[in-house]
Amino acid sequence: MIEQKIQELKAQIRGQLLCQRDDEYDATRRLWNGMIDKKPLLIVRCLGVADVVAAVNFGRDNNLDIAIRGGGHNVAGNAVCEDGLMIDLSLMRGVRVDTQAQTAWVQGGAKLGDVDRETQLHGLAAPAGVVSHTGVAGLTLGGGTGWLSGKYGLTVDNLLEVELVTADGRVLKASKTQHADLFWALQGGGGNFGVATGFLFQLHKVGPQIMRAATMYPAEEAKSVIQKWRELLPTLPDEVTTLAILWCIPDVEDFPEALRGQPVVVVFGVYSDEVEEGEKVLQPLRELGTPLIDMSGVLTYTELQQTFDPFVTMHDLLYYWKSLELDTIDDQVIDDIVANAGSRPPKSLIIIQAMKGAYSRVAAEATAYGDRSIPYLLEINATWNDSEENEKNIAWTRDFWGNMKIHSSTGGVYLNHPGFGEEGEDLVKASYGNNYQRLVEIKNEYDPNNLFHMNQNVVPTISWNIRSELN
Ligand SMILES: Cc1cc2nc3c(=O)[nH]c(=O)nc-3n(C[C@H](O)[C@H](O)[C@H](O)COP(=O)(O)OP(=O)(O)OC[C@H]3O[C@@H](n4cnc5c(N)ncnc54)[C@H](O)[C@@H]3O)c2cc1C
Repeated sequence: MIEQKIQELKAQIRGQLLCQRDDEYDATRRLWNGMIDKKPLLIVRCLGVADVVAAVNFGRDNNLDIAIRGGGHNVAGNAVCEDGLMIDLSLMRGVRVDTQAQTAWVQGGAKLGDVDRETQLHGLAAPAGVVSHTGVAGLTLGGGTGWLSGKYGLTVDNLLEVELVTADGRVLKASKTQHADLFWALQGGGGNFGVATGFLFQLHKVGPQIMRAATMYPAEEAKSVIQKWRELLPTLPDEVTTLAILWCIPDVEDFPEALRGQPVVVVFGVYSDEVEEGEKVLQPLRELGTPLIDMSGVLTYTELQQTFDPFVTMHDLLYYWKSLELDTIDDQVIDDIVANAGSRPPKSLIIIQAMKGAYSRVAAEATAYGDRSIPYLLEINATWNDSEENEKNIAWTRDFWGNMKIHSSTGGVYLNHPGFGEEGEDLVKASYGNNYQRLVEIKNEYDPNNLFHMNQNVVPTISWNIRSELN
């Protein structure tokens, strides 16, 4: 019976259908986080929208759990499911740039590096994240912060249209003028509403050269460096996006051997406009203490976008990343961050992001993403390579996160960094705040049976059956 169904599905798709006996099965189910080891019953490697429709219909009609894989970077590993159907878009990485309109149409399995490569050819960029192998789809649907957030806001603020395959197998275009409610939900509401097969982004003139400050200060100066960084923030223009990271100097050739492994605080800042102006504006970020290593300078935008790639590699490292919105980074908060971070696994990055500029001027109800008034985002990005330490490091992260919650009035996380989402609907509600109820209503409309639930789930309150009785 199963074999017959597999053959039926195979006949309907142009891409590949993989099951456990196939050679490519193991490589395809692997995700960025080396900790995730789930075995789906079937994987559909889609080559186009029609494949996605066939896969969604098959999963729904056969009551299978459905997981959607874009770039495979979700820390919780929601892009794969045990015994269900994995809809894999990673072969759909096309990018088409319209230089006249300054827009890019991007397929649902593209990575950020794909977009940067094609758009930078024309001196353009779509605001997105800071690691080039991250998936466009998951990042965008969750919000999307990056080096251009100060000037142009989140990725969703630059989203013009989404092509989506819904739970009932329809192909819809959502924008401000078509299915506007659905479009609003896709601006931060995650993978709750269907499979996104394409995105249209507004592009901006950026690069090719760009100025970046990247200065490492000794860990002993962490408190005073972060204090001075905090005081500087209100003076910085929108063009500057900046963050401070508690890190250890990576054990790679680029860094002096004698300093590798040493704990540091690194202040990064990117100026999104003219390089000469950027050099001046970013200079104070390089003078916040006694620089140990100063990597500041001019680089290409695509190089900038790959800065962190070597430190957060695919498959071989183990990750548990969790975030928290912070009301302030007053001295007590800094003390608490520094104290908690002291015992971090050495490869971890403890990031304080300043959420400023264009990002913060978008009203909470304008996009599903929610409140933009919270000025800082703390990311506790625990990273290690020995699976014996999984339990210890997850517990460490959760303790740190729990200890910091007194400094967060919302208790919200950035849902693209949710840990494993252990807190379920409570965490999702806290993060969406007042937008949650509207998201539920839109979920009721487009996915009342919660077909798409492998995500930061917005739980519908009405099912098809109840619905048809009401009609
Ligand atoms: C190394 C690294 C760096 C990061 N840097 C940033 C950053 O700078 N800025 C930032 O904002 N975030 C960042 N993130 C977080 C990132 O946005 C999320 O992990 C996001 O989920 C990644 O998307 P993906 O497509 O790669 O993930 P996947 O694991 O493929 O997907 C994650 C979830 O998104 C949904 N989804 C994926 N594709 C689709 C689709 N086509 N249609 C519908 N739903 C879909 C599904 O619910 C899926 O479970 C980073 C993550 C990592 C691991």
